[in-house]
Amino acid sequence: MVGRASFVLWHSLLGPASTRGSAAPKLVCAPEARKADSRPTMTAPTLANIPIERILELVDRFDTRGPRYTSYPTVPAWQGQLPSDAHDASLAACKRAARPIAVYLHLPFCAQRCWYCGCNAVVTGRQDRMERYVTAVEREIALLGERFGSAMTCDQLHLGGGTPTHLPVGLLESALDRLSAQFPPSEQAERSVEVDPRNCSDEHLAALVARGFRRISIGVQDVDDQVQKAVGRVQPLALIRSFVERARKIGFVNVNIDLIYGLPLQTQDSWDKTLNSMAELRPDRLACFGFAYLPKRMKHQKAIDATTLPSAELRLRLLLQANRFFTDNGYQAIGMDHFARPEDELSRARRDGRLWRSFMGYTTIRGLELIGIGCSSISELQSLFCQNETNPDRYAELVEAGPSAVVRGHQLDDDDRYRKELISELMCNLEIRPSMISERSGLPVPEGIDEALVALAPYEQAGLVEPIAQGYRVTEVGQLFLRNLAMPFDRYLTEDNRKVFSRTV
Ligand code: SF4
Repeated sequence: MVGRASFVLWHSLLGPASTRGSAAPKLVCAPEARKADSRPTMTAPTLANIPIERILELVDRFDTRGPRYTSYPTVPAWQGQLPSDAHDASLAACKRAARPIAVYLHLPFCAQRCWYCGCNAVVTGRQDRMERYVTAVEREIALLGERFGSAMTCDQLHLGGGTPTHLPVGLLESALDRLSAQFPPSEQAERSVEVDPRNCSDEHLAALVARGFRRISIGVQDVDDQVQKAVGRVQPLALIRSFVERARKIGFVNVNIDLIYGLPLQTQDSWDKTLNSMAELRPDRLACFGFAYLPKRMKHQKAIDATTLPSAELRLRLLLQANRFFTDNGYQAIGMDHFARPEDELSRARRDGRLWRSFMGYTTIRGLELIGIGCSSISELQSLFCQNETNPDRYAELVEAGPSAVVRGHQLDDDDRYRKELISELMCNLEIRPSMISERSGLPVPEGIDEALVALAPYEQAGLVEPIAQGYRVTEVGQLFLRNLAMPFDRYLTEDNRKVFSRTV
């Protein structure tokens, strides 16, 4: 139920009428009404002092299914088919605007399938299939080059997958050299790559370092051997340890590690072992994701014995254990799921208010235009999202036929752009300040934002957000519920379509 106090507040937080959508509903309660409301509002608890039982109550109350908001609108809400000239027009605008660009290259092949995997990955050892794919990637780069008319300097380059280093070294080098001819990285550009420590050779590492890659992202997930067997990915800690040492020695100065909580057979003791191994490996960044168990959508997850998955309570305890461990060990919490050393660029960006979120996750440059290359990759241009064909063989056919492999997308209107900015601000800088978004973007506050703000009242009463000048700030405990806090601002989300997403906590 929505409280009266909330009505107050949002009128004054929305800013001057001139910056608001013309049909915005009028919420006219006086600020005094807030003081007059006698219901107690909890002072913000912290993760260190809040009892676990209280968090469990909050999870019981608020946990639901919802997007992770690496984009807004989220992919299931896209219109689908784009007007035939939309992609070309957005690329031309990108060139004219000369804003910083990022490039993401998707290399989908893996040696074997991990049962928890949620990526667009294809298991193959066939060299001819990989060669055809890399040829298609090179052709897609050439097609983009024709549209841009000249090379475009990029400020970020990320190789994801799949397992990029499952490609033979020569093929990987060929794709990368083609890429940097069309998208030469700027001097300060960050170049990063995802690897599987089980099959990444020194030759792969050296080829990447020779091309300026310095950040490596390693999928660890959990170091316990029983948990590893239960998810079909066995990689002993000794192997991970020696891989990290090799990568650092060969030239990767920045190491990211991905962990997953909520995996089968995880216990607080086994998780403690995983966390302690992080203190030893000392990654610069850690991502700690909740396991999204969606066997209806991802058939390979059926290999997991669902009876061995942790209970909701244990899952929460694992999450809190990780949060506490990382902060006690000097990492700073970044938005949702991420932790970084204070000197890491992500922590700096967070402190400077430059943090941004895209399909690549958290990034250090605000307002990047993202060019996605390869199957399933998504481009995020100023007013357009578009995605390439997902299947690598069909992707190759489309690229061979030209002019592009884009199969769907979404053109953003002003309402989308405003909400995208607001949700990014929330996910990155943990604040909701509607009038500030308007002032910064020049976009009017759209209709429906008042109601979204009102819908935050239960979260305020629960101590998950607290009022600040012109808005709300997310509290430390509220950071666990960031996805919930963003959902009222999503105009496409309904009770029905949210079921395709994973649980929010
Ligand atoms: S290596 Fe990575 S991308 Fe490949 S199946 Fe395992 S988790 Fe998925």
